[in-house]
This record gives sequence, structure tokens and C-alpha cells, in this order.
Amino acid sequence: MATYRGRFAPSPTGPLHAGSLVAALASWLDARAHGGAWLVRIEDVDTPRCVPGADRLILQQLATCGLVSDEPVLWQSQRGDRYQQALDRLIDQGHAYPCGCSRKDVEAALQAQGVSRERHHIAVYPGTCRPENGGLHGKPARAWRFQIPAPVDVNWTDRRLGPQTQNVATEVGDFILQRADGLWAYQLAVVVDDAAQGITHVVRGEDLTDNTARQLLLQQALGLTTPAYLHTPLVLGANGEKLSKQNGAEPLDLGDPLIALNAAAHALGLPPQTGSVSQALTAWAEVWPA
Ligand code: GLU
Repeated sequence: MATYRGRFAPSPTGPLHAGSLVAALASWLDARAHGGAWLVRIEDVDTPRCVPGADRLILQQLATCGLVSDEPVLWQSQRGDRYQQALDRLIDQGHAYPCGCSRKDVEAALQAQGVSRERHHIAVYPGTCRPENGGLHGKPARAWRFQIPAPVDVNWTDRRLGPQTQNVATEVGDFILQRADGLWAYQLAVVVDDAAQGITHVVRGEDLTDNTARQLLLQQALGLTTPAYLHTPLVLGANGEKLSKQNGAEPLDLGDPLIALNAAAHALGLPPQTGSVSQALTAWAEVWPA
């Protein structure tokens, strides 16, 4: 096996919360338990959602918890040329096409097809601007989409959740690689950077599980290797909803980092620890996976 390289890749949309600390701790423990490297990457491609200074704050919070990147931290906002190269390659090989549809156009096309969808559920792009459907139909190009090769199941195995299946064509549709406003999509940036950083193992929150099939398709189209994936349990708030910055999760209280770490460890099925932060981390790494 290639030398283990793992990462934690927060989006700086606010400070870490209890849920993101679980993913951070799990990815760190998995790396240490494998004698591997742990990298931090700041995923700040969606600039309108990023909060100035949140990146520094997250790095500080991680450091307070004894979690420090083994290599210089990477900021995705500085890597646009790498994403452009990947997009160019996808275009050259017929895996990407320009799309002139606004959100309203997509809604209208879906309605015309009699497709109703639940609120907040992603619209499966109906393929209006696919080359075989006549391309842009004279509209200006707004975004770039990935052309899903065929409506087949993408199968992969999560290290915790077991076998997973998604028919990306029918469940997601041709997804965006570069948005109309020029911003890079998470799917493209994450695949390019996981490969560029030689990531062998991805450990992240369970809310991201259903992005994995899309990422596998992109890796195949770009000729990149696929890392192993492990999705960690979500921490639910008092209202039973997953903790996220969007639903107002409290920022972590790191007055005593061991209290926050013990809570994260508990979510991962690990026993409580006393003593120093570094003693606790070492003890958990010895019994990981729980
Ligand atoms: N940046 C993503 C997030 O904070 C995580 C991406 C990943 O781990 O693949 O939700």
C-alpha cells in the first residue's frame, strides 16, 4: 500500500463546531493509527460563503486540540490554475460541456418533463445543453458541467458504512464543475487536490457520503487513483438535526480542549480520557478504530 496520507478539509464558513471536530479527530486518529501523514486543506472555493478570518480561527482551534497539519496548509482559493487544467482536460476528452441554463431554465425543463421534486432536493439536470441535445441552443455559456458517462450504478465501499451504490446519472445528473459566476465547484476542487496531495485515505463526515460517487467518476475521467473512504457518524443537535454552521451550531468551547475532544471521541465510540491533550490523542490512536 502507498504510504498513508490523510487530510481534514474544512470550509471556512465559520469556526469549527462539535460536528466538524469529530471529522477532524477521526481523520487525525486514522492517519496516526496507520503511521501516516495528516494534512489540513482549507476549502475556500465558495468565496461568498467563506467568512473572513475563519480559516485562521479553525487552524487555531485545531492546534488547541493538538491537531496540527504535518505539511504546509493548502488554500483552495490559490489553486484556480490547477482546477482550470483539470477542466481543460475534461473538455478535451469530451467529459465536460458548457451549459447556458439558468436555475429557472432547469426548473422549466423539468416541469415540462413532468418531473416534480421536493423542495430543497437537488434538481437532476435534464441534459438540455448536452452536445447530443444540441448544445447551448444559442445561449451564452454560463457554467461547465460534467458529462456523466452512462446511467449505471457507481459502486464503492465505505470503511464504516459498507457497500454503497449511486446511479449518478439518474440521482444527481450532469453536475457543475465551474459555476456561472466562475467559482469552482467543490467536486472538482476536492478531486484535484486529493490527487495532488497524494491522499490515500479520506475520512470525513457522513453528510458528505453521497458526494463520493461523483468524485469517483471524476477521478476515473481524469485518470486519477481513488482513495479509500470512511465517513464518520454525525453529531446531532438537541433538535435532532445534524450540527452545522447553517443551523446555528454553537462554536466549540475550547476553554478545556479535552472536554471538546472527549465529546468528539464519544461520538466515535472511543472511551473518555483524562490527562493532557496529547496523552488523550495517543491513547485514542492506540485503540482506533473503535
Ligand atoms: N470542505 C468540505 C466541508 O467542510 C469537506 C470536504 C471533504 O472532506 O471532502 O464540508
